[in-house]
Amino acid sequence: MHIFYSEEKKGNKLILREQEVKHFRVRRIQKNEIFGVIYHGELYKCKIAYEDRNTIICEIIEKLKVKKPLKSITLYQCITQDLKTMDLIVRQATELGAEKLVPVISERSFRKKEAILKRIDKWKRIVIEAMKQSRRTIPMKIEEPVNLTDLEPTMEENLLLDNFYEGLSVKDVNLKANSFSVIVGPEGGFSEKEGNLLRGRGFKSVLLEPYTLRTETASVAILSILMNC
Ligand code: SAH
Repeated sequence: MHIFYSEEKKGNKLILREQEVKHFRVRRIQKNEIFGVIYHGELYKCKIAYEDRNTIICEIIEKLKVKKPLKSITLYQCITQDLKTMDLIVRQATELGAEKLVPVISERSFRKKEAILKRIDKWKRIVIEAMKQSRRTIPMKIEEPVNLTDLEPTMEENLLLDNFYEGLSVKDVNLKANSFSVIVGPEGGFSEKEGNLLRGRGFKSVLLEPYTLRTETASVAILSILMNC
């Protein structure tokens, strides 16, 4: 079933506009064809009620059952030098159910705040694309960039993925906790000073075995483990 995204409801009709109309045309949805529309944390089974050049009005047939994540996970992702890699991480973190992604500026990350702020709208669009593909109905939040030196442990379990440090095995983390934060480094990793600062504040250093991963692989690996344990 094709899935679309709406931010407008009138009675039992959901309205698609702009990007969503384009997507709808690409899918060549026929009159009487059934499709899904995500609206405000719900997924509705719909068919076309009315359409014109700029708008599709969808008639709700029924509300569908959706899954919600059992864990609340915030990903603190140091901004990759190649911003395209961030696009991939945003997509994958959305699919995996992270509640929030916070871009982090660290010593070796991409550091131009203006350029990062300009990219946030694109990341929000990627979140919506990924939601439709994965049937996720609640958007992953994307915050404005923060400095690594400002990070504090605020969840039940607060992890730091640092491949330069002989940290805990993931098995030693309380995987049954309901809320997690995870800090993942940029392509060049963390400096020793950064690792020590975050460990000093109470983030638990975790080492994934057996190899050194790319940052985008490390984020996906830890999110999959935490979400499924
Ligand atoms: N350039 C570094 C690798 C950095 S990998 C080197 O040559 O060794 C980028 C980030 O991915 C790291 O900062 C860390 O957050 C994460 N990462 C990669 N492999 C990891 C591992 N085995 N365990 C924990 N974190 C890892």
